[in-house]
Amino acid sequence: MNKAFTREPDASSDYCPRCGTQGETVGIETLQSFLSDEQRRMLSVPANFCPSPSCDVVYFDSFERALLAADLAKPVYPKDPNAPLCGCLGLTWDDIEADAIKGDRSRVKAAIELAKSPSARCHVTMASGHACVGLVQKCFLQSMNRGG
Ligand SMILES: [Zn+2]
Ligand SMILES: [Zn+2]
Repeated sequence: MNKAFTREPDASSDYCPRCGTQGETVGIETLQSFLSDEQRRMLSVPANFCPSPSCDVVYFDSFERALLAADLAKPVYPKDPNAPLCGCLGLTWDDIEADAIKGDRSRVKAAIELAKSPSARCHVTMASGHACVGLVQKCFLQSMNRGG
């Protein structure tokens, strides 16, 4: 046996051609949910999601082809801060912030339970295709800390 050690090909994603942020890999189901067939055919799959709120690029591929927030039929978070974080319960950052300030955890809890349950649809209702739990928790905690 003389098998040289080879580094696993780096499965991590590419960098956004516009802002240079590391993209998050998104699969076909997510792309189908957010893009028209025609738009989807413009990107190689898996494509990447640019998570930077200040960048117009939503999806891009390794050939630096990009689709912008304005190209999409629906607004997506964080490109549009008023868009729901995830389609799970449709909570926006403002909703969660308001709950955090009131100290009301019920909607956040429900969203997290749903996201963790088998009926979670995050991979098609969240633009990045990830579970929204981390984002929802982050928003709640940040708002709580800010609200005192
Ligand atoms: Zn970007
Ligand atoms: Zn979700």
